[in-house]
Amino acid sequence: MEAKYTEEVYPKAPDDARTADCEQISNLLDLMIDGEASPEEQRFFNHHIEECISCFENHQKQKLLKGLVTGHLKRVIVPQSLVHSIKAKIQETL
Ligand SMILES: [Zn+2]
Repeated sequence: MEAKYTEEVYPKAPDDARTADCEQISNLLDLMIDGEASPEEQRFFNHHIEECISCFENHQKQKLLKGLVTGHLKRVIVPQSLVHSIKAKIQETL
């Protein structure tokens, strides 16, 4: 029995648009969420997620997960509709 694997087995990566900035953002995520990023890092971060939906969503996701883990969900201020779309995304990702 020989299994056939083709390129089509794998879903297309949705994040072709990732840049070097996105790499930095993902490194900053933890710092931002823990409130340990420097003011300069915060500015860079906030500016980036205003323009980059994938990093914005990552940040929201991380905040949600962190909130779930630490029980501080009430600190996450997002519209319900966004929460729903993020939860849907999380389920797609997991
Ligand atoms: Zn980005």
